[in-house]
Amino acid sequence: MSDTMVALVTGANKGIGYEIAAGLGAHGYRVGVGARDAQRREDAVAKLRAAGVDAFGVPLDVTSDASVTAAAALVEEREGRLDVLVNNAGILGDTWPDAPTGVTPAVLRRVVETNVIGVVRVTNAMLPLLRRAPAPRIVNQSSHVGSLGLRTTPGVDLGGASGAYAPSKTFLNAVTIAFAAELSDTNIKINLACPGYVATDFNAFAGTSTATEGAEIAIRLATLPDDGPTGGMFDAAGTVPW
Ligand code: NAP
Repeated sequence: MSDTMVALVTGANKGIGYEIAAGLGAHGYRVGVGARDAQRREDAVAKLRAAGVDAFGVPLDVTSDASVTAAAALVEEREGRLDVLVNNAGILGDTWPDAPTGVTPAVLRRVVETNVIGVVRVTNAMLPLLRRAPAPRIVNQSSHVGSLGLRTTPGVDLGGASGAYAPSKTFLNAVTIAFAAELSDTNIKINLACPGYVATDFNAFAGTSTATEGAEIAIRLATLPDDGPTGGMFDAAGTVPW
């Protein structure tokens, strides 16, 4: 097993995930670029390598048991362990805001399948590899729009009532708290990152910060020291209310 720390970022072919991969690479991690499309994955790996990152491609569709099992086998065979997992892949659904009175069961299922079940699927597949690392870190990509505290605070504008995307992040937050509780007697830290309103394909580049800025909190949580928190939700400014 090599001494180089190994990270896997899901949905790393573009947007915030790509910048998390670039940032972890700059911190000296070898970075697995988890991406479902072969061409987009290869392009991202080539771009990262050209920028000096020790990147490798990991075919990964977070909605597929077979794909996730194969991804874990690839990381196991190639690296033997995993130090950092960033569950970044996510989808919005069909529209934003996705008013609850208009959301279809099909869209709701698709969003939850990717944003929640995908995270659980990938995390549980990677846990055996994470347990072999000296200081494992898991970061789940959440959003301010999933905060019930913010959503029920008068005057806070989270972009309209959301029936699928925002609730999927609230669900993810609850799942992350459960993982943190179960793993509390291990050295694994698992936290939620809220990147802010970031200009990516996700919002047709309407976001107000860059993907590099949006990646910062996930990178910070992925590289937490041993006395850092677990089971929390954070943005660039600090703790985000549940
Ligand atoms: P993005 O540019 O649309 O990137 C999303 C990434 O997820 C892409 O690489 C996409 O791959 C991947 N992905 C989607 N479904 C997947 C699947 N089934 N398997 C594997 N990969 C999949 O969006 P982004 O803005 O960077 O968003 C990244 C994360 O940040 C998401 O979890 C999002 O909810 C969260 N977030 C974003 C914002 C924002 O303002 N942008 C704010 C809060 C939270 P393809 O290229 O193959 O589609």
